[in-house]
Amino acid sequence: MNTFEIEHLVEQYPLVKQLINLDEVTWFNPNTTTLAEGLPYVGLTQDDVAQAEARLKRFAPYLCLAFPETQKTYGIIESEVVAIPEMQAALEQRYQQKIAGQLMLKKDSHLPISGSIKARGGIYEVLTHAEKLAIEAGMLSEDDDYSVLYSDKFRQFFSQYSIAVGSTGNLGMSIGIMSAKLGFSVSVHMSADARAWKKQKLREHGVNVVEYAQDYGVAVAQGRKEAESDPHCFFIDDENSRTLFLGYAVAGGRLRQQFSQMNIHVDAEHPLFVYLPCGVGGGPGGVAFGLKLAFGDNVHCFFAEPTHSPCMLLGIHTGLHDEISVQDIGIDNITAADGLAVGRASGFVGRAMERLLDGLYTLSDQEMYNLLGLLNQQQGIQLEPSALAGMPGAARVCGDAQYLQSHGLDTQKMQNATHLVWATGGGMVPADEMAKYLSAAKV
Ligand SMILES: *Cc1c(COP(=O)(O)O)cnc(C)c1O
Repeated sequence: MNTFEIEHLVEQYPLVKQLINLDEVTWFNPNTTTLAEGLPYVGLTQDDVAQAEARLKRFAPYLCLAFPETQKTYGIIESEVVAIPEMQAALEQRYQQKIAGQLMLKKDSHLPISGSIKARGGIYEVLTHAEKLAIEAGMLSEDDDYSVLYSDKFRQFFSQYSIAVGSTGNLGMSIGIMSAKLGFSVSVHMSADARAWKKQKLREHGVNVVEYAQDYGVAVAQGRKEAESDPHCFFIDDENSRTLFLGYAVAGGRLRQQFSQMNIHVDAEHPLFVYLPCGVGGGPGGVAFGLKLAFGDNVHCFFAEPTHSPCMLLGIHTGLHDEISVQDIGIDNITAADGLAVGRASGFVGRAMERLLDGLYTLSDQEMYNLLGLLNQQQGIQLEPSALAGMPGAARVCGDAQYLQSHGLDTQKMQNATHLVWATGGGMVPADEMAKYLSAAKV
């Protein structure tokens, strides 16, 4: 975009000026509709999510064998929900804002196999591909006990095929580790911001790591190009994949079960607010879709982005989706938040979810570090910077009288509310890296 075009955009959408200035902003979506009205635009249904859930159940016996750390959940990759009352009090203090209701943390940071939310979508897509190949070859049927996949016969079969993906780190970890375990030959195309320890861990698992000096968009484009020239290579498309999206969406029904076991109510009198860190959008989009199916209009979803990478906010707010990047308006897309350093949002996710989100907001890298330190201090829980992006959400929501009023969220309902911060990563960060993160926190 040239200066004139940017000025024109700012005239139409004054918030874009604040994005350009790297201000922390909160945008409440004026186009939110009911689930019934918004669902047709997603193009996926409850039945699609149910099929994904069933597929993950078929693979559970295999995952138990291949990753013994999943045995205690019978091969189902799921994370805990915990209350964080000390953090809630500290946030009220920090933001000088009462947070009505209860603040909780969804610890996808501690998901087995790859220690991030990518253990949902990434692993699900690899399993889907493996199942398809094995069934087409007549080696597997859906009624089989999938522990048979944990064998040399299957590893040898999958070794004829390859998988490629572009990643800023965490998606590569999930797809790399899962694909290599099944026996695939796998290449992960890593952007410049990817951490050295993630590359090393992947190489230890036998993954081919290709490094780029450019950002995520370039790594993805190269991965796609490599895959196109090889008919046996399957490219996992983080920007457009419905399969990834469905793998994430399974989280909704699972959370409903967890809440009912914990006696946490979600209904018209007990609203649920969920704050999800957003990169390209598949993870938070898929989870939010699953949450909407599980809790209907009683769940309110918000996406959180770094001030240096507000791609989804830019795309949804202007309606330009993947036709605009943060670089187009002069933002550098440089952030310490792994997984969130994405300049151009998924057009599929933006268009699917623009009516089902209550809002998006941004926060600075320094604030993510500060919140990382605060959570460690208050609750002894350690996350990676991106996973803290959801943390300011509850105070932003509780502080906006106009938003609450327009959604009929009165004082009584807010006292009954649950605020769920989706902690998307950090469980596998090495101790020396974590020490560096903690030392960057000013609390
Ligand atoms: C990938 C990632 C996200 C966001 O997921 P997208 O699908 O890229 O939007 C958030 N947090 C962490 C830690 C991630 O790795």
